[in-house]
Amino acid sequence: MAIDQTLIERITAEVLAKMQGPAASAPRDGVFATVDEAVAAARTAQKQLAALSIEQREKLITAMREAARENARLLAEMAVEESGMGNVQDKVIKNKLTADKTPGTEDLVTHAWSGDHGLTLVEMGPYGVIGSITPTTNPAATVICNGIGMIAAGNAVFFSPHPKARNTSLKTIRLLNDAIVKAGGPPNLLTSLANPTIEAANEMMKHPKINMLVATGGPGVVKTVLSSGKKAIGAGAGNPPAVVDETADIEKAARDIVSGASFDNNLPCIAEKEVIAVGSIADKLIAYMQKYGAYLISGRQVDDLIQIIMTAQEEKIAPGCTDKPKKVYGINKDYVGKDAAFILGKLGINAPAGTKLIICETGPDHPFVVEELMMPVLPVVQVKDIDAAIDLAVKVEHGNRHTAIMHSKNVDHLTRLAKAIETTIFVKNAPSYAGIGVGGEGYATFTIAGPTGEGLTAPRSFTRQRRCTLVDAFSIV
Ligand code: NAD
Repeated sequence: MAIDQTLIERITAEVLAKMQGPAASAPRDGVFATVDEAVAAARTAQKQLAALSIEQREKLITAMREAARENARLLAEMAVEESGMGNVQDKVIKNKLTADKTPGTEDLVTHAWSGDHGLTLVEMGPYGVIGSITPTTNPAATVICNGIGMIAAGNAVFFSPHPKARNTSLKTIRLLNDAIVKAGGPPNLLTSLANPTIEAANEMMKHPKINMLVATGGPGVVKTVLSSGKKAIGAGAGNPPAVVDETADIEKAARDIVSGASFDNNLPCIAEKEVIAVGSIADKLIAYMQKYGAYLISGRQVDDLIQIIMTAQEEKIAPGCTDKPKKVYGINKDYVGKDAAFILGKLGINAPAGTKLIICETGPDHPFVVEELMMPVLPVVQVKDIDAAIDLAVKVEHGNRHTAIMHSKNVDHLTRLAKAIETTIFVKNAPSYAGIGVGGEGYATFTIAGPTGEGLTAPRSFTRQRRCTLVDAFSIV
C-alpha cells in the first residue's frame, strides 16, 4: 500500500500539537498545522518586526539574500524534482536573481510638503500579515522575492504555495526564517502550512487577521483574490508575443527569442509565447532560430503535437442551434515545463544535441498561438506588414497587459506596438527576461501585477501610505 507522506506529517503535527499544548508545540520555522496557528504566529512576528529599526530590518533582508543565494541550487533541484517542470540551471539563475535584485528597504520613500502651514509627511507603512499565493512554475523564486519585498515593507507573510510545489516552498520558507532568526529577527515572519491545499488557501483568504492578499498565478486565483473583499494584488497570466519586423537584426532577434522562449522550458509568465514575423524576413528568422537551438516541425508533425500537448473539447451549443460545434483547446498540464527533447520524443523524433525549443509555422488562430502553453513550443506566424503584426500581437495578448517583446530598429514601429498593446513590460531587442533585470537594467520580481496595476511589484507595493501633519512648525525656511 502506498504511504501518503503528507498525510502522515499532518497527522503527526496535529497529534503533537494536542499532546504538548499551544506553547510547547509552537514551531519556530514558520510551518504550522492550521491556518489559525500560522496567522497568529505571523501576527506576533509582525509586531516584533515593527519594533525593530529600519537598519535592523535591512540586516534581516541581507541574511535572507545570503541564504537564498547559498541555497539557490538546492532549491532549484528540489523544484525540478518535485514539480517535474523546468530545468535546474535556469531555476538557479531565477533564485539568485531574486536574492540579489529584489529591492529592500531603500524602496520605501517618504514624501514631504513644507510651507507656511508647517510640514506634512507621507510614509509607507506595512499592511500587517499578507497572504501570498504562489505558483508551481517559480516556487522558490516567488517565495524569495515576495518574502524579501514584503518583509522589507514591514509585513509578515502567510504563504499558500501550490500543493504540487509544497516541499520546495516549505524548504525555502524554513531556510529564510532560519536566516532571519540567526540575524536577530523574530521567528515565523514567513509562515505556511505543513499540508497546503486549495481549501486552506481559501480559509486563509477569509481569515480576519489577513490584511492583504497577493496572488501570483493563473486567471482563476487572481479572480478569487479580487473577489475577496480585501485589498488584493493580482499577478496573472500572460501570453507574450514577440514581434520581429524587417528592420531588426534578424540573427540577433532569432538568438534572443530562442534564449527567452526556452528559458526554464518556457515557464516564466514573461517568456515569448508566439512569434509574429513580418513576411519578408520570416524565412531568414526561422533559419537563424534553427541555428541557435530551435527544431522546426511542420505539417503532420504539428497536428500530432496538438493531440499530445493540448486537450480538446467540443464547444457547448445552445439547444436548437444548427452550427457545427467548434473545438475548445486547453493545455495538457503533463507537458508544461517539459524539455524540448522529451516533447520531440513523443513525436518519435530524436532531438539533436543542443535542442532547446520546438518551432513551427502556424496561422494566427492556431491553438499554440492562442493558449499560454508554458512549454518550449513556439509558433511563428507570418503577417504581411507591421500593421497586421501590431493588430495580431494585441489580439493574442488577450488584454492581459502583461508582457510583449519586439525586435526592430524602427522607433515608430516600436512606439506604435508599445502604445497599442499597453503591457506592463515591453522589451525591445532583447530576450524577454531582460524585462526583469537579467541582462537589462532595473530590479527583479516574479510577481508582475498587470491586472491590478502595481506593475513589477517591489516593497512599496506592499505598503499603506500614511500621512502625518504638523501645523505651523518644522518648516525652516
Ligand atoms: P495556478 O493558477 O494553477 O496556481 C497558482 C496558485 O494559486 C497555486 O498556489 C494554487 O494552489 C492557487 N490556486 C489556484 N486556484 C485557486 C483557487 N480557486 N483558490 C485558491 N487558490 C488557488 O497557476 P500555476 O500553474 O501554478 O502557475 C502558472 C500561471 O501563473 C500562469 O498562468 C502564469 O502566467 C502565471 N504566473 C504569473 C506571474 C506574474 O507575475 N504575473 C508569475 C508567475 C506565474
